[in-house]
Amino acid sequence: MNGSDEIISLKGIGEKTAKLFQKLGIETVSDLLNHFPRDYESFDKPVKVIEARVGEIVTLELTILGNFKWKKIRQLTIGTGMASDNTGKVSITYFNMPYLKNVIRSGNTYLMRGKLKQERGVLCMEQPKLYTYEEYAKKQGTLQPCYGLTAGLTNNAVTKAVKQAMAALTEEEYLPDELLSQYCLVSGKKAYEGIHFPQNYEEMMSARRRLVFDEFFLFLIALRKLKEKNEESISDYPMIETAEVVRFMEQLPYKLTNAQMRVFGEIKADLLSGRCMNRLIQGDVGSGKTILAFLALLMTVSNGYQGALMAPTEILATQHYEQMTEMVKKYHLPFKPVLLTGSISAAGKRNIYEEIESGVVNVVIGTHALIQEKVHYRNLALVITDEQHRFGVKQRETLSEKGGHAHVLVMSATPIPRTLAIILYGDLHISAVDELPANRLPVKNCVVGTSYRKKAYEFIETEVKKGRQVYVICPMVEESENTDNVENVTDYTEKLKAVFPETIRICALHGKMRPADKNRIMTAFANRDIDVLVSTTVIEVGINVPNATVMMVENAERFGLAQLHQLRGRIGRGKEQSYCIFVSGTDNDKSMERLKILNCSNDGFYIAQEDLKLRGPGDLFGIRQSGDMVFQIADIYQDSDLLRDISISVDAILREDCELISTKYSGIREYLEQNAVNFVDFRSI
Ligand code: ADP
Ligand code: MG
Repeated sequence: MNGSDEIISLKGIGEKTAKLFQKLGIETVSDLLNHFPRDYESFDKPVKVIEARVGEIVTLELTILGNFKWKKIRQLTIGTGMASDNTGKVSITYFNMPYLKNVIRSGNTYLMRGKLKQERGVLCMEQPKLYTYEEYAKKQGTLQPCYGLTAGLTNNAVTKAVKQAMAALTEEEYLPDELLSQYCLVSGKKAYEGIHFPQNYEEMMSARRRLVFDEFFLFLIALRKLKEKNEESISDYPMIETAEVVRFMEQLPYKLTNAQMRVFGEIKADLLSGRCMNRLIQGDVGSGKTILAFLALLMTVSNGYQGALMAPTEILATQHYEQMTEMVKKYHLPFKPVLLTGSISAAGKRNIYEEIESGVVNVVIGTHALIQEKVHYRNLALVITDEQHRFGVKQRETLSEKGGHAHVLVMSATPIPRTLAIILYGDLHISAVDELPANRLPVKNCVVGTSYRKKAYEFIETEVKKGRQVYVICPMVEESENTDNVENVTDYTEKLKAVFPETIRICALHGKMRPADKNRIMTAFANRDIDVLVSTTVIEVGINVPNATVMMVENAERFGLAQLHQLRGRIGRGKEQSYCIFVSGTDNDKSMERLKILNCSNDGFYIAQEDLKLRGPGDLFGIRQSGDMVFQIADIYQDSDLLRDISISVDAILREDCELISTKYSGIREYLEQNAVNFVDFRSI
């Protein structure tokens, strides 16, 4: 078996199952191996009822009391009864597991595993799994993988498939021994085995360390190569200052902040310098980066060139396009923009390609469709990427190549300290928009438990009646296995429709919808045709609807704080007071305490740092600052020390052998060549 084989070649995977895997972005055996567990279930020693904690998954050794009753209600077979050990009693319920009728007998003792709940003072377990002593002994102490799933695909099915895929792993090693021992790394094969099926915690951690190493190492080598290429190249598109830019700045409804002025000064100096600009604008959510992009584009088009603005989602691209179109009307700007996204028809695209090539349009706004090969520009002088952290190095590179020697400007809201930014954006100069517009009212926050929902709904209703709009965020799209007590957009939308009067217009939005539908819904929300938008984190990036003043985040404990901060950045954008309600799905003290950090600061960088301090190493998998950068397993905050060390090693290696041709390093070069697509593109967007 080969990593590049399609997963349909695995035993037990037919067309139908392959389609489900495809939904998760898994097409090949190698994709499957890189579908790392989201979490692990650890099979600890069975505990006594009296020691067991409500709300946790536990294994109890229970004897069935009296007679266990089975009854049939319509299609449903329900079994109920009490069970106990010598310290306490638990009520047990099974739904639709009729075969257990012949298994469960009064007086017998079983190992029962499930989530312990308490209802009206009675301890209970629903659908506990049954184990014999032998079965349990085999699992005890191990970590069982929990994978990201989709409806119809069980954790068991993914586990089985991954087990088979392991056969594609070889002992081949691309790293020299020297690096392996310097960083105490296990082999690549061991890393995959250890991340999917660790025998214990230590094994999982060393597997993770190796995979993190690979991600950072390959990323940084690619980045250094890019930097070499870009360094100090002469621009084919020299510019001069134009009156349009000055006029536009004077007409704006607000004064630019000092930080915006300073950063625009830096951009202007680059564009006038005769050399290629390679600049990163770093600025917290809401610091006003979009207007800087528009100013740079205005300078470009008024010099007679084309510019491109790339966003990671269609929703955001569409919004930028609409904002620009509006500005053209209002301020008579010389922009002739076009929107280019994946959901435009083939004929429509051909038309747009022609307009781009002939120069009829001078600004192209879109998603990564912008960098597809068919697009030829007439004179592309400036390429801007918004929310840079969502793009891979390969995409950065392709885009700047499109324009020959185009100027490159990237914008990011990821709060990272300067020392890390220099490493991760080693190919770029960095500008910071480190000041928020003065007219902002800080968002009012609260962290609450699920019992607060009723009050929250009442509050939302009053705000909607005042004409405001609301975001409700859920972690999942739909119900699936492994997601007990996790809210999903589909069901939650229905629930809210039942709670609120019909006059309140509620709509769902998530990443699995067709792009055209997403755009339609987002546009309706922006036009105030929707009052409450129930959404996954697809709205996290960039969206600007200043009339939305309330955000309620369900299962807030499942998100990284930096990500919650980004989400919260969607409100507090207008002059009205905004409110953010973080609902924790657990009343675990630690997770409440973590969320409360969001209460006391609005500084993304501070929040990320504090989050890091509070999260022990055991949290590594449960909560990642997902969405940050393009790394799949590495976490730039958590693994920052390793990142710094690897950066030094990469410099040393390239100094010693910049083409990677020596025997020692040629393995790295070959690996890069073979996996070019995988390692630089990662699995972003
Ligand atoms: P981000 O940096 O998160 O991309 P945006 O560019 O979307 O932020 O700006 C957020 C909001 O702030 C927008 O509604 C924008 O019009 C407004 N804005 C930008 N600059 C200023 C300013 N100097 N004064 C007041 N409002 C501003
Ligand atoms: Mg933005």
